Amino acid sequence: MLKLEEGMKHLQDRGAKLTAQRIAIMASLENRRDHPSAEMIFSELKPLYPTLSIATVYSTAHLLAQVSMIRILSIDEKRVFFDPDTNPHAHFMCTKCKRIIDMRSDHEMRIQLKPEDGIFSIDSTEVFHYGLCSNCGNL
Ligand SMILES: [Zn+2]
Ligand SMILES: [Zn+2]
Repeated sequence: MLKLEEGMKHLQDRGAKLTAQRIAIMASLENRRDHPSAEMIFSELKPLYPTLSIATVYSTAHLLAQVSMIRILSIDEKRVFFDPDTNPHAHFMCTKCKRIIDMRSDHEMRIQLKPEDGIFSIDSTEVFHYGLCSNCGNL
């Protein structure tokens, strides 16, 4: 889970400059539940930071993902979305309005690894479900 102070420390540890823009990007990702895209963060911050570029949003997000402070979701082939919640959870995407909703199940999705599969270990799992959200389904 992204915490602004920890995020700043991690970036400094990696030798990344802590610019006002990077701090603003982290602040806007902190405690967010709506899985913003780079474009959303960019258009929110652009009025406040006129020199901000979309490349800075991407590079800051990638730095944060490298230190596991956020997850980068490639749920859609055209865009990536950022998730400040790094706890394991599945996602649902509405195919109509493109809303992304967190899905939590009370049981872990356990996979049985058999030697014949040729898989040694699994470090992370991304599960995406697609369909209609309750807003779009009721129309
Ligand atoms: Zn929808
Ligand atoms: Zn999520």
